[in-house]
Amino acid sequence: MQVARLHGPKDIRIAAESAPAAPGNGEALLKIRTVGVCGSDLHMYDTGRIGYTVFSEPFILGHEFMGEVVALGADALDGVHQPLAIGQRVAVEPAVPCWRCELCEHGHPNLCPYHKFYGLFPEDGALRERMLVSARNCFPMPDSLSDDVGPLLETLGVAIHAIDLSKIRIASSVAVIGAGPVGLLITRLAALAGASPVFAFDKLDWRVRKAREWGATHAFNADECDPVGAVMDITGGRGVDVAIEAAWADHSVQQAADMARYGGRLLLVGIPPDDQLRLQHAVARRKGLTIIMSRRMKHTYPRAIALATSGKVNLDELVSHRYDLAQTAQAYASNFAYDAGINKVILRVG
Ligand SMILES: [Zn+2]
Ligand SMILES: [Zn+2]
Repeated sequence: MQVARLHGPKDIRIAAESAPAAPGNGEALLKIRTVGVCGSDLHMYDTGRIGYTVFSEPFILGHEFMGEVVALGADALDGVHQPLAIGQRVAVEPAVPCWRCELCEHGHPNLCPYHKFYGLFPEDGALRERMLVSARNCFPMPDSLSDDVGPLLETLGVAIHAIDLSKIRIASSVAVIGAGPVGLLITRLAALAGASPVFAFDKLDWRVRKAREWGATHAFNADECDPVGAVMDITGGRGVDVAIEAAWADHSVQQAADMARYGGRLLLVGIPPDDQLRLQHAVARRKGLTIIMSRRMKHTYPRAIALATSGKVNLDELVSHRYDLAQTAQAYASNFAYDAGINKVILRVG
């Protein structure tokens, strides 16, 4: 089968490798159809690391993906405890928790210290034609959802989890910095959850426009205004109840803190390339901010599928570029360069 491996920073190579073995207990063999490129993949692509995960030998990226079930082991129950069937199209949640540690038992499998994660070194991801996955991580996709949308259910899951943590209530004021796929989805969900006003900021004009289309009451190019000043003007100097950072977690973390009201919530979703959080202590302290770090998601696929199926969130609109597996290097380079119009890049594997 054809496989795309990351050999070093900005070095992706396609090669033929042997196909995986037959699925074991609780496993499914998938024919991978589509894989998304995520901001976290771009960190790994750019620097060979994310957080303190550094890769030491070639591995396969791709944690946002869907595929078709082609073989099943015994007891292959899906993520909602139903038997999987050959031929089903399934979206795959990439984190495989241990399900038996303290965090898992307490309902926080997203924090499981013993988990593995498809597409995060040393665990290979989905940029290959066949892949063995845990059946429990598979969620059948309704016919109304396209293959291209499958990988975005993971992105939507990240946004749902962030919204859950934000405790947004009806008429809460919210600001979202970053209108990449995650930031846009958070903006959309904040509007759906009844937040108002909803501010959105990005440096790319087409993303600012999309944020407006998707429910931001105020969307600005962050390079063409003073984002904090804009929020303070419109809120009469109060700031927002919830400020969400969903960009590259650089100076935008401080901006988000500066936008939050006294006693507000600061939710950090973006990942900084240098693994450092920079925040003026006095601002956070004097405001008494509640600072929340968002880590992946918790059983959000059923809700993501429901939202996408209902049309409340149109995931197809987020897909801006499509490539074949053979073009993986080109797809990553284009996404990393933020070529015009880039939102979600999808690799069509099979
Ligand atoms: Zn991701
Ligand atoms: Zn665990």
